[in-house]
Amino acid sequence: MKKSKLIVFLLFVLQIVFSQGISDKDKLARTLYTKALKNLNDFKCSESLYYSQKLLDYSLQKNRPALAAVAYNIIGLNFEEFGDLKKSAQYYNSGLKYANIAKNDTLRNYIYNNMGNLYYFKFKDAIKGLYFYKKCYEISKRVDTPIDVAFSEINLADVYLELKQYQEAFNFLTLVQQKIQPTDYEIGMSFYSLMGNYYEMNHDFKKAEYYYLKCINDFKYLNLAIHKAHQSDIYLLVSKFYEKKNDAVKSLNYLKKHDSLQDILFNQERKFEFRKAGGDLEALENKLKVQQIETDKKIQEQKISEARRFTTIVLIFLAILIVFLIFIFKGYVNYKELNSKLFENNEQLKLAQEKTEEATKLKSQFLSNVSHELRTPLYGVIGMAQILESEHKEIKDSPYFNALKFSSNYLLTLINDVLNVYKIEDNDIEFNYELIDIRKEINHINDSMNVIAKSNCNELIVSISEDFPKYIKTDLTRFSQILINLVSNALKFTHHGKVEIKLDLIEKNTNQCIQLQVIDNGIGIPKEFLDKIFEKFVQVDVHLQEQYKGTGLGLSIVKRLVDLFKGSISLTSEINKGSNFTILLPYLNIDSNLELHQLSNYHLDHLKPLKILVAEDNKINQMVTKKLLEKNHHYCKIVENGIEAVNCATNEKFDLILMDINMPELNGIDATTKLRALGITIPIIALTASDKENILKDIKDNSNGLTDVLVKPFEYHDLQLIISKYIN
Ligand code: ADP
Repeated sequence: MKKSKLIVFLLFVLQIVFSQGISDKDKLARTLYTKALKNLNDFKCSESLYYSQKLLDYSLQKNRPALAAVAYNIIGLNFEEFGDLKKSAQYYNSGLKYANIAKNDTLRNYIYNNMGNLYYFKFKDAIKGLYFYKKCYEISKRVDTPIDVAFSEINLADVYLELKQYQEAFNFLTLVQQKIQPTDYEIGMSFYSLMGNYYEMNHDFKKAEYYYLKCINDFKYLNLAIHKAHQSDIYLLVSKFYEKKNDAVKSLNYLKKHDSLQDILFNQERKFEFRKAGGDLEALENKLKVQQIETDKKIQEQKISEARRFTTIVLIFLAILIVFLIFIFKGYVNYKELNSKLFENNEQLKLAQEKTEEATKLKSQFLSNVSHELRTPLYGVIGMAQILESEHKEIKDSPYFNALKFSSNYLLTLINDVLNVYKIEDNDIEFNYELIDIRKEINHINDSMNVIAKSNCNELIVSISEDFPKYIKTDLTRFSQILINLVSNALKFTHHGKVEIKLDLIEKNTNQCIQLQVIDNGIGIPKEFLDKIFEKFVQVDVHLQEQYKGTGLGLSIVKRLVDLFKGSISLTSEINKGSNFTILLPYLNIDSNLELHQLSNYHLDHLKPLKILVAEDNKINQMVTKKLLEKNHHYCKIVENGIEAVNCATNEKFDLILMDINMPELNGIDATTKLRALGITIPIIALTASDKENILKDIKDNSNGLTDVLVKPFEYHDLQLIISKYIN
């Protein structure tokens, strides 16, 4: 089956005009184009070539690749009409190059289509034709103009029928059918004739005849030359169909129709045109050859300029990259410098920090050492004063003696306060929680405070709410320290007034808390001091004028202890009305009866006379301890050092040994180890002026045989308490 594709070519070319939109303003291009096209349509190829070559000139001058592609396409079509197929292919190729430069898919689509036609219909190379149609189909789908897609599909169906791939052909025809519009005459004609052909190939002659006749009848009234050419092809096709069916009458009838149309279309106009065109064709061709060379040159130039542009862009990009890299490098160098500076600074900071820490450590160590050193002789002074007082009752009235007693007691308080502050700051403090009969303990404190209360004519009241538990779990020493500090302050700064110790169990944020309040109606604290008062060494100026004695450390110790208890302290106060210190401590549940049984219940009231060995190198302390023990009816033997202690304890039987730790010859710890090795089992209580937790812990834990430890200076009550723990 063969038919002319002229209709399709022209249609494509026509569409180019509109789709490429040769601008209305560009009148020259539009005129040249229209003339070239019209002449080709009328088979006046010579004129058509004349105008299309002018159009090419113009497009190259104006550097408009899309227009050049259009011109080459028409030139290609003209040469195809002459039958100079090689040249036709050559001009289509040029058109394709320009379409590529213009990056114009619509143009590429049309030219590929024309090349497909050329190879399929003219060169009779269905495979190559298929190759170009496929390219065309890909592009038309991308551009997505339904009519272009339909043309591609018609062409593909045609070539597949030729290649006897009927199913493929039928698939494409089905696709076309969905797109046909009543006014798409060319597509309609092609579709019905191809359907007829398809069924003819499949030996369904009835259907084939139906489609052929439909094709002829539906379109026979079309009068344009291009439609007539197509009709002529179809008549020939149908004539051959009937010939195959052995219907000679019909076959002849359609052959006649074909011939008469052929006569009209070709034998008259076209041949005439061909002859006319023949004369100047050679000159025209030469011109086109020159143009072709120029075109190639231009394309080459364009490629070079594109390459140049690309190189420039790459160079610019590289330059930017280099600048960027330089910046990064500089940044990196700066960063390195900064980093090393930072590192240096950090090192210096670290050094400075270490120095500060060391200095602070040294300071607190110095203070603590000095305080300990002071405590030992002070123990002597206070002890001696007590001895003097008990042996010479009349001395009590001496103002000098009283001044000595007051000063030494004051000095001891001061030293103890300083030690306490630094102990807490060094975190050298460990809480020892035990069950305490709180009413009993507060009464003890109350008793000892009553003496001070009387001196300022104050009334000291204790009120503990009824629902307050009998036992609480706390560190008695720290708890007492807090209470004593607050109560002694209240008594100090109140005259002829009232100081109240209040204890309640309250609920705060669903947690039970012990609320301890010390309320006085004394001189009060000015507002501006309320938040500073818990800092170290802060005293209210007004009070200083009134010659109150104090270190300014008491409240800071209280605050720190409360913190360690994980509690809180608050203060309200008004000048001349009084102060209220409120402390909240977490209430720890007592969870077993066992704890209650473990309560210390020592019988301190009466200790039987004991035989006690005291190892102590300080002469004054020897005297003080001896007097203290003898006053309480104990027998006391003094030795100077560890060696003497070992000798004495192995030769004589004692109930208890009080062993000083720091002694010449043999220290207390080593002496104890020896005594235990010799089988001595009696309690050995270490004596030390150091109350540092870690030292005390060491003495207790070192499994060196020491039974317990007592911190100097101690009162008889402390000694009594510790002895009663180990001697029944
Ligand atoms: P100090 O050893 O001086 O008493 P504190 O830290 O215990 O040191 O107290 C600091 C200062 O707070 C006291 O010097 C006093 O001015 C003031 N202060 C403390 N308690 C009271 C109080 N109950 N009434 C009035 N002033 C008080």
